[in-house]
Amino acid sequence: MDSRTVGILGGGQLGRMIVEAANRLNIKTVILDAENSPAKQITNSNEHVNGSFSNPLDIEKLAGKCDVLTIEIEHVDVPTLKNLQVKHPKLKIYPSPETIGLIQDKYIQKEHLIKNGIAVTKSVPVEQPSETSLLKVGNDFGFPFVLKSRTLAYDGRGNFVVKNKDTISEALEALKNRPLYAEKWAPFTKELAVMIVRSVDGLVFSYPIVETIHKDNICDLCYAPARVPDSVQLKAKLLAENAIKSFPGCGIFGVEMFYLETGELLINEIAPRPHNSGHYTIDACVTSQFEAHLRSILDLPMPKNFTSFSTITTNAIMLNVLGDKQTKDKELETCKRALATPGSSVYLYGKESKPNRKVGHINIISSSMDECEQRLNYITGRTDIPIK
Ligand code: ADP
Ligand code: MG
Repeated sequence: MDSRTVGILGGGQLGRMIVEAANRLNIKTVILDAENSPAKQITNSNEHVNGSFSNPLDIEKLAGKCDVLTIEIEHVDVPTLKNLQVKHPKLKIYPSPETIGLIQDKYIQKEHLIKNGIAVTKSVPVEQPSETSLLKVGNDFGFPFVLKSRTLAYDGRGNFVVKNKDTISEALEALKNRPLYAEKWAPFTKELAVMIVRSVDGLVFSYPIVETIHKDNICDLCYAPARVPDSVQLKAKLLAENAIKSFPGCGIFGVEMFYLETGELLINEIAPRPHNSGHYTIDACVTSQFEAHLRSILDLPMPKNFTSFSTITTNAIMLNVLGDKQTKDKELETCKRALATPGSSVYLYGKESKPNRKVGHINIISSSMDECEQRLNYITGRTDIPIK
């Protein structure tokens, strides 16, 4: 489909699913990450770089092997990418290093969004973390508030909910030695998310608005479409599109939002890459988020509605498969139940099972959300009556 080679910084499950989409289009991919990482296990080349996406020399080595560089994780070394852009003007880097830089520090991301008139949760930097400075935050924002690491955070690792003044010392200990900011509590009724893909010439295509449900700060379920009125979906889509239009460059973006009791919508955070809340697109949409990303960064056709549900009546639930907390690999029992359920597809990432680690996901699709839920109930063991 395209003779150019795509280099991916990061070889986790997102990289693996980009590779799956690339394989179908016969696009060559080369990965930078540890040996035998999930993406490397299934690629159509053996020229990978063993190393780290935060190491300048490793990134340069990868760049020497490809025509287009992309990421599956935002915690990469941005100055190296910016240097490469100057040194090798023919090498395309998407998303643009400038965008990755604006997003990878969550507080800089907030400042950027505010500057562009986008509604976000109120936050302040915490430059000198101490009992006194956090007590002041508590007095200004009220309790609870959320203390967050500005960088390198994922799956809630990097966040601490400061319930009251007695939990301040625990928060300081949990996030010590990390650059911090504090966020006002968002009293949300639902968390919404949307994938948005941007073409090289700046056109923006939105996937359906979905609803994410978190357990222990990790995404557990994703309902597509979100169970909110059409008017709220439209408002969320416009907010997210405006946010994405404020960042330079093309590629796919995941936008997380809070839908408040008041009806207000706020952006929580943005990811400049495929996102967990977009995994349902593999089975439910005309084009998956992973293929959409490739089409975007390779400037391949992106026709009207290519991000829509496959049929008007598609409903989907995505369930993350996490490593069982007690017994290694026990989560595979859930996957087996999914294999026995109509309309369900299992994705395993080739990662070792560890407690609460994301090791796979299950997509359930049907023409009705009630049926998706019945199937989910069987898969998760809430009912033992198999679905016909
Ligand atoms: P991560 O990088 O782990 O996704 P997030 O900042 O998105 O970090 O936080 C993870 C989850 O914690 C959110 O999806 C939401 O459920 C909860 N959360 C984060 N910030 C707030 C907030 N300001 N108010 C209420 N809940 C929050
Ligand atoms: Mg998040």
